[in-house]
Parts: sequence; C-alpha cells; structure tokens
Amino acid sequence: VDFKSPGGRKQDWAHLRVCWRLEVYQPTFLRHFKAHRIKCVVHRMNEHRAICWLRRDLRLSDSAPLAEATQSGFKTAVVFIWDEDILKRIQDPDNRRVTFIFKSLQEIDEKLKSHGSRLLVRRGKPYEEIPKLAKLMGASLVVWGEDYDPAAIQRDLTTTAALQAARVESRSVKDIVVFHKDEIQNESGRPFKVYSPYARRWKSMFLAERDAADHTVTPHSFIREKDLPSDTERPSLHSLGFNEAKLWLEPGENAANRRLAEFDRQIEDYERARDFPAAHKTSHLSVDFRFGTLSIRAAVRTCLVRKSAGADKWLNELIWRDFYQQILQNFPYVTEKPFQTQYENVRYPGVEEHWEKWRDGLTGYPLVDAAMRCLNKTGYMHNRLRMIVAAFLTKDLLIDYRRGEAWFAKQLLDYELASNNGGWQWAASVGCDPQPYFRIFNPILQSKKFDGEGAFIKEWIPELKELPDGEIHFPAGASEMELLAAGVELGATYPKPCVDHFTQRDHAISLLKGVNL
Ligand SMILES: Cc1cc2nc3c(=O)[nH]c(=O)nc-3n(C[C@H](O)[C@H](O)[C@H](O)COP(=O)(O)OP(=O)(O)OC[C@H]3O[C@@H](n4cnc5c(N)ncnc54)[C@H](O)[C@@H]3O)c2cc1C
Repeated sequence: VDFKSPGGRKQDWAHLRVCWRLEVYQPTFLRHFKAHRIKCVVHRMNEHRAICWLRRDLRLSDSAPLAEATQSGFKTAVVFIWDEDILKRIQDPDNRRVTFIFKSLQEIDEKLKSHGSRLLVRRGKPYEEIPKLAKLMGASLVVWGEDYDPAAIQRDLTTTAALQAARVESRSVKDIVVFHKDEIQNESGRPFKVYSPYARRWKSMFLAERDAADHTVTPHSFIREKDLPSDTERPSLHSLGFNEAKLWLEPGENAANRRLAEFDRQIEDYERARDFPAAHKTSHLSVDFRFGTLSIRAAVRTCLVRKSAGADKWLNELIWRDFYQQILQNFPYVTEKPFQTQYENVRYPGVEEHWEKWRDGLTGYPLVDAAMRCLNKTGYMHNRLRMIVAAFLTKDLLIDYRRGEAWFAKQLLDYELASNNGGWQWAASVGCDPQPYFRIFNPILQSKKFDGEGAFIKEWIPELKELPDGEIHFPAGASEMELLAAGVELGATYPKPCVDHFTQRDHAISLLKGVNL
C-alpha cells in the first residue's frame, strides 16, 4: 500500500502499513483518508505465509504459536500431522487419546471454517510433511509450541533441519508451561530438585502481565480456504486404524472452557475437598493441559482473579506441573532410570501374579481395586488414588515402578510423561523430592480417611456395597456374619487380600534401606 499526501508527496508511513495489514481497521482508515484527501494505492503482492503446526496446543484462543504467526503479519495455515512414528506404537485400536485428539481437531476445523479457512490434516512423518506443505503453499515460516518430551525434541530438531534445507524459517515458542527449563533456577544458577523452594521462586519470579498474558490470535490472518491446498487426503479415524473410543469427558476447546468455568465456581472448595475422590471437587482439566485444549495461562489467570485459599492451592498444583516439566527438561535420564541414580540397581522381588491382580483391580484391598477399575474403564484416576495405587504396587507388591508407570501411560487419557514419571518416582521414593522410603501408605487407613463412607468403593465395586462402612475398607477383616449379611464371599464374589500389608511394608523398608545405608 502506498499513501500519498494531498500534494502528491509519497509518504513512507511504516506504521500505517502495519495497521493496514490488520484488515479490521481498513474501513476506518479509508474514511479518514477521504476526509484528509490522502490518496491510497493498494498494490497486489505476494502475501507472507506461515504454517502453524499444532501438536499439543489444540485450540485457537490464547495460543502462543498461533499468536506468533498471525501477529507477525503472516497469513497463516493451521496444520496437524498424524505422526506415523507415534501411531505405530499404539496397539489398542480403541485408544482414548486418539479419539480425544481427533474430535478436538474436528472442532478446530469447524471454527476455522467460520473464519473462512480450514484445518489442514495430513498423516505421515512431520519432518517430511511439514516441509512439503510449506513448499506447496509458499510459506516462509513454520511456528510450533515447544514440547519437552525427549522424543518430541528429537522430532523437532529433525523437522527444523529439513525446513532449513528448504530455506524455510522455523520458530518454536513456549506455550505448555508458564516457566520452562532454565527460567526458574536456584542461587547457584542450577535447576531446583525440590518442589517447595521451586514454587517459592516461581511465585517470586511471576509477573502476571508477562507470564499469564493472553496470547491473542488474530482470526482474519488465517489463509482463506480457497487459497489452501486441497485437503482430500484428510484421514478419517478409521483410515488411521482406530475406532471411536468412549470418553468420560467431552473433547475440544469449548468443553475445556466450560470445565474451567464450572471449576471456577467451586474453586473455594478445592483446598478442603480435593483429596476425597467421591467428592469430584478437582478441576478434571489435566487432559486439557495435556492436549492444549486449554491454555495454562488461562488457568493461572483464574487463580489470580479469585485470590482465595482454594485458588492458591490450585495454583500450587499447576506449579507442580511446571516443576516436573523442568525436571524432565533438565534431567531427561529420568525417563529411563530413577532421578536418584543410587536406586538404579534395586531388584524388585514382586511376582507376576500380583502384578496382574493390581492391574485388574483384584488385590483384595477395595480402594486400590476401585481405583484401578476406574482407571481401566475411564482412563482417569483421582490424584490421591494415583498415589495410593502407586505406593501399593511398589511398597506392598514390591514391583518396579516402571511397570506401573507404563500401565498408566497406556491407560490415562491425561497421560503426561513428565507428571506421570514424577508421580511414580515420588511414590516409589526414588525420584526428586520423593516420599521418604520409610513412610509407607497404609491402604486401609488411606481408605478410611479419604473414602470414609466407602462412596467411591461402592461406585466401582458394587458387590461390596452392602458391607457396613467400617468394614468396606478391608472385607477380609469383617466377621463371617457381616460378610454373609452383605452377600460377600471372599475368594468368590470379591478376592482375598493378595498380600499382608504389614509384612510387605517391612520388606519394602529393608529393600530401600539397603540402598540408603
Ligand atoms: C503416580 C502418579 C501419576 C500421575 N500421572 C499423571 C499424568 O500422566 N498426567 C497428569 O496430568 N498428571 C499426572 N499425575 C498428577 C495428578 O494426579 C493429575 O494431574 C490429577 O489427578 C489430574 O486431575 P485434575 O485435573 O482434576 O487435577 P487438579 O487437582 O484439578 O489439579 C490441577 C492441575 O494441576 C496439575 N497437577 C495436579 N497435581 C499434580 C501433580 N502431582 N503433578 C503434576 N501436575 C499436577 C494437573 O495438570 C492438573 O490438571 C500423576 C500423579 C501420580 C501420583
């Protein structure tokens, strides 16, 4: 666009040019130009095009990568690649996470359509597909959100190299955490290994207008559908080799925003009720943070607005998430071995039969079994229950935490490498800032404390629902009369305990104590 003053003098009004690109202002400008007799000549030129490659940021609002692309004046195409390297490792055709992603993408496509654009979806290897699309569309920039999973880091390096070879700029921006890798360090410039001082530093470094700012996306910057490559290759769920799985919560950005709004209404209860699985007082937003259907900054802004004990407690949980992400970034070996490497050679003596009982919810400890049945059926488990079942597997059944970690990775809808690994290592007392090895959860006391009336147990093990509240936590301790009256036959309608907690507790302490001597 050239702007000329009344005398015919050509002006180099760089600022005006930038504003002109933000098309919404154009009618106002035109009126203004007419009034001041400024001549404005619009030349057609090739627009600058960018690709925003979505991965774990499946939303259109408050998205750092989308804002980066659209606010830099680029016409932007939004792209998702079904990564063959990931798909081929998923054996279950009813995988819940694939359905969650698929449906969230459908919603994004609908939203883009309402802005006159579309979501481009391909299947293949991102480091081949992304450069191919960039070439096809004449895009000079590709933007994506940082991902700290070691496999993702490798994939992104390969894609960056492929784009470089094609002379296309690539930019990765922070989006899934508030602070990353080296933004929060201790006095000696090293990463924190303990949560509490990390959280204190996190809070002292935090600046709302910088760290929780809304990364506004300018929708009129999306490339129009007619200017996008044809999307006849868009894969269906079936062609990807998957069936539609039943999800326990609704996928997509709209549903995530509704969940946040609903939780916001009861955030005051969070501090008091968060540990009671049957109360359903946690946010259930972990899956949204996992796939980016909700921005972590939007969640933090909610805490800032509320300024209550409940909101502060919830902020602490969000900081736990950042904490484990920075552990994964700074100590990537944790994916293979314990954070505390002296535990690397511990040989867990647990047996296969016990593993199967734990996995299938048949240990004879009702809260453990109810939690595992809930996980297997829905893909979700409450945080307190995750701690209880993880402690039970590692300390009562003496089975390597890595087996439990892998089972959770398979089943959880919100599976997050950093948090899952951190949680398992914490429970097994081998991680950073771990549960001390000699402090061992008693599964019966935990059950009495956090599911006092057995509401959660009754929901998942209805065959125990007639037992009195006092006995439901450990049916093997009930009298024959009580069992008979409740219609429970141990070993037939519900299993006998597979181990004795107190015996196993001593074994666990001596196993781990040996390393600590
Ligand atoms: C053994 C074990 C495995 C776990 N595996 C995962 C996992 O794969 N994915 C996952 O997102 N969380 C994991 N967690 C953490 C936690 O259990 C879940 O984040 C939480 O239960 C999700 O429910 P919510 O969204 O209602 O949580 P809320 O109580 O509402 O918490 C809000 C958010 O804070 C974060 N958060 C809460 N607790 C933790 C924590 N201990 N560590 C890290 N972040 C936390 C989550 O993003 C969560 O959504 C694990 C914990 C343990 C003990």
